[in-house]
Amino acid sequence: MPSVSLLTELIDSLKCLPGVGKKSAQRMAYHLLDKNRQGALQLSQVLNEAMQRIGNCERCRDYTEEKICTLCANPRRDSTILCVVESPSDVLAIESTASFSGVFFVLLGQLSPLDGFGPEEIGMPLLAERLAQNDIEEVIVATSSTIEGEATAHYIVQLANKYNGNIKVSRLAQGVPLGGELGYLDQSTLALSIANRNRLEQ
Ligand SMILES: [Zn+2]
Repeated sequence: MPSVSLLTELIDSLKCLPGVGKKSAQRMAYHLLDKNRQGALQLSQVLNEAMQRIGNCERCRDYTEEKICTLCANPRRDSTILCVVESPSDVLAIESTASFSGVFFVLLGQLSPLDGFGPEEIGMPLLAERLAQNDIEEVIVATSSTIEGEATAHYIVQLANKYNGNIKVSRLAQGVPLGGELGYLDQSTLALSIANRNRLEQ
């Protein structure tokens, strides 16, 4: 007799999903066993394959099954503009706006030396290599507006300047969200919005 039943093991495994605690995991396990064994088998097969075959692009570190991802391999993308983001999901978010035609670099984290995330861990040597090729004219730093995100941005600015003094480095605009009411904004966002105000066309 195994000490832990398969059912218990299934419930415990489901808890690795984000936002899923014991109760939700139990509900999911019973739902799959009761009503959707076929879907569950399909899920387990795709999960297995995805976890084994999805790696990181050798050029930008985004997720891909190939050596080089489709974005990096697309000759229609403007490879002189490099947008640096923290995670692959940021690439997806920016791509969904269809407002950026350059290429990406994914840090896979942010600078946080106390948690063991130094420049090496977040791919800075690869980014430096990329900048050293001298074909990039603009770097857009799209890191979070947290302390770690700001520290990461600062590091990237210094790195870019070190490799190419003429490179243009920009940061995503921060401020009042579309449809946002000023009264509900936190003070620091409002202060940033005032500091980064845009001149209106006259
Ligand atoms: Zn890529």
